[in-house]
Amino acid sequence: MADRETATGPIGLVQAFVNSVDLEDGPETLTTPEALGSWLSDHGLMPAGAASDQDDLRHAVALREALRGIIGANSGAAVYPVDVATLNEAAAASKLRARFGSDGRARLEPDVSGVTGALGRIVAAAFAGMADEDWSRLKLCGSHTCRWAFFDRSRNHSSRWCTMAACGNRAKARRFRAQARKA
Ligand SMILES: [Zn+2]
Repeated sequence: MADRETATGPIGLVQAFVNSVDLEDGPETLTTPEALGSWLSDHGLMPAGAASDQDDLRHAVALREALRGIIGANSGAAVYPVDVATLNEAAAASKLRARFGSDGRARLEPDVSGVTGALGRIVAAAFAGMADEDWSRLKLCGSHTCRWAFFDRSRNHSSRWCTMAACGNRAKARRFRAQARKA
């Protein structure tokens, strides 16, 4: 949806990955190992044409949903141990380590190549993003069928829906119907 707010930098990368599926209306972008490879190379995480198989796809979708879970904490949801374990596994599998770039700044980079390394770069983006105070603005839509990751640009960080036009109004309509039934 064009009017949904997006972040930039590492937070934007994490947001784009989590939103590679629209749970409410579709589509799912990561449907095949090839589609996963294209997504990762399109985002500069892996060379184009690098190998990707069904296991990679399974790991990628698991990582994506673990990140969605972690982002939920910014919207007041509980952090689930299974999501934490999935993130730790992805970090360990890609052998993330601190590396100082030519600009003198340190970042986490994977020692493993291929999809495992590319997924490690997404974990590294989450790591870098969490060090940024804007991380708390990355939230999940309050609609349980939507759970889109949106960037809350409101002054007091109070947005609950990915868009007022879509999910916010749907929620309002549901409340209105429930009240009408009671009355
Ligand atoms: Zn939504």
